[in-house]
Amino acid sequence: MSDRGICCPQCGSVRLRVKDSRPRGNSIVRCRQCNACGARFRSYEYSEADLRSLELDPRLTLRAVRVMASQMLERINEALRDE
Ligand SMILES: [Zn+2]
Repeated sequence: MSDRGICCPQCGSVRLRVKDSRPRGNSIVRCRQCNACGARFRSYEYSEADLRSLELDPRLTLRAVRVMASQMLERINEALRDE
C-alpha cells in the first residue's frame, strides 16, 4: 500500500501528515493534514485485492463512473451559475 496519488484537496500539495488511521470494513480510513496549508481531510484506502475485484465487476465500475459523471455535471452547473 502506498500514498502515491494522494494530495491535498485544498492546495494540491503532496506533503501530508497522517494524524490517525483506523480500519473501517475492508478499508482503512486515514485522517491527514496538509503540511502546506493545514487543511484536514480523510482518505480511504483499500487493499489491492479489493481494488482488483472492483475493477473486475463492470456493474460497480459503471456505478462509480455514473457517480463521478453526476458530480462533474453538478460542478459544471455551479460554475455556469456563477458566471
Ligand atoms: Zn494543502
